[in-house]
Amino acid sequence: MSTPVALHRSSADAELRIRWDDGVEQCIAFARLRGACPCSQCRAARLRGRIDLVKAGVTLREVNLQGYGIQLVFDDGHDRGIYPWSYLRGLD
Ligand SMILES: [Zn+2]
Repeated sequence: MSTPVALHRSSADAELRIRWDDGVEQCIAFARLRGACPCSQCRAARLRGRIDLVKAGVTLREVNLQGYGIQLVFDDGHDRGIYPWSYLRGLD
């Protein structure tokens, strides 16, 4: 499994940049991350087809390392998502 060697939260570009140990550089938009939140509440909302989940211009307020991934805190107050490395790597 890949692990990141660098994480950069770019507010200017509204994206999280991850450099992985195999040299791959990944950029994921904050809105994409928010929309892909893996917490049970968001998963359930997506299954119900809720499209109001992600507000326009959502920003990422905090990135907290959790060992096997990161907990992301968004400016809409949502902080329940813990994104494992393998899950992040699979996001485009
Ligand atoms: Zn969530």
